[in-house]
Amino acid sequence: MLKDPSLFREAALVGGDWIAAGEHGLVVTNPASGARLGRVPMLGAAETQAAIAAATAAQAEWARRTAKERSEILRRWYDLVRANADDLAHILTLEQGKPLVEAKGEVLYGASFIEWFAEEARRVYGDVIPAHAPDKRIVVVKQPIGVVAAITPWNFPNAMITRNAGPALAAGCAMVLKPAEQTPFSAIALAILAERAGLPSGLFSVITGDPPAIGGVMTASPAVRKLTFTGSTATGILLMRQSADTVKKLSLELGGNAPFIVFDDADLEAAVEGAIISKFRNNGQTCVCANRIYVQTAVYDAFAGKLAARIAALKVGDGLEADTTFGPLIDDAAVDKVSAHIADATAKGAQVTLGGKRHALGGTFFEPTVLTGVTQDMDVAREETFGPVAPLFRFDSVDEVVAMANDTEFGLASYFYTRDLARAWSVGERLEYGMVGINTGLISTAEAPFGGIKSSGLGREGSRYGIEEFIEIKYLCFGGI
Ligand code: ADP
Repeated sequence: MLKDPSLFREAALVGGDWIAAGEHGLVVTNPASGARLGRVPMLGAAETQAAIAAATAAQAEWARRTAKERSEILRRWYDLVRANADDLAHILTLEQGKPLVEAKGEVLYGASFIEWFAEEARRVYGDVIPAHAPDKRIVVVKQPIGVVAAITPWNFPNAMITRNAGPALAAGCAMVLKPAEQTPFSAIALAILAERAGLPSGLFSVITGDPPAIGGVMTASPAVRKLTFTGSTATGILLMRQSADTVKKLSLELGGNAPFIVFDDADLEAAVEGAIISKFRNNGQTCVCANRIYVQTAVYDAFAGKLAARIAALKVGDGLEADTTFGPLIDDAAVDKVSAHIADATAKGAQVTLGGKRHALGGTFFEPTVLTGVTQDMDVAREETFGPVAPLFRFDSVDEVVAMANDTEFGLASYFYTRDLARAWSVGERLEYGMVGINTGLISTAEAPFGGIKSSGLGREGSRYGIEEFIEIKYLCFGGI
């Protein structure tokens, strides 16, 4: 089914050597069918150490190259990812479940970070600062931080890698990556293409296997100067704690609890479309998915009716089928969480206006769900559902909804719809989030800084700010002039 079957490889890349999965490898399954896709090696501490050692050696040489040379190799990687986008999308849908068009969208979105940072590689400028004494000169140079460890999640098996590998490699760093156990084949395919693009051996490793063992070595190693993690807040906190002893620089993209606010002056059709994109993309399994939808009283019933009608017309199915909008959830635990949130909400008085239960297709398929009459005391108000449930809260005033929207430990994405310019500015400023979508449900792009505040994390990915995460500032003081 792949145009280039060699992109599906049951092996991990450790310091330039491919290690085959063998009999005892980790089994990866297709969430749409439960079918076994293949195996990846069960690696641990020793292989992680080896990858870090190889990365350390390769990084020293890579950092000495000109930015233009690094940029050219990244550009070739970008071209290869685009040229193989159909195969990468196919692999991604097989292991992750999202519809093929969304998978292709992710691959191209992922590629855009390689392209962007290939360009940014040549613009890591330093500074000359007017000195404090006549015989001195102050110069600031920017240098790669060194070896970077990356741990990535299953919901974006391609883009969460490129969003970090792009800037890290552009800056002159090396990367040792641990992809999620559910979705390693997308990471491996990216590594194959990076090799073909001419990335030096050892500079980029992909280690599959035991997460605590691999993460333990990554965080304890003094050679690893930076950890970038995308995943749950609980795991992020654990890794942050583990990184304390070696005082590592950290980028953390953790959980969200995004509010999506519809004011009564909003373009309702646009708000419904925005809510669908924001809430249901990847079947609700993204950290920027709308988790709480607040609708002003005057338009509440109209919005609820339009949203349910639009969603009811969309198809649940295997992501490989052309007209599928909603794939399966990643695993049974995801289904349990979605079911628990619905049960809690209905027990406390919410109504199910659409869906509400497992889908007739079985497995981890779930009916897209709309809940009305949702209130702040329900679990959906506090926890990320990470599934296809749209809970509709009612509100009356601007102050009330801003207070409710900010009443969470998280601060990643937020959204609101209004046609009032003054309200757009003031609510945009008052929302305590790293990102605010105003009259749009889709905010992610390579050009903009992606990231959160509060328990949603540290650092920014993408944009001109993204490369700074992989750079150290050094100040040179010239005296005796
Ligand atoms: P989720 O619950 O969505 O799978 P996790 O935070 O558990 O989120 O997973 C995100 C990534 O973190 C995955 O690559 C996973 O393997 C990894 N991970 C989970 N636990 C640990 C750990 N103790 N040490 C290192 N990595 C971990």
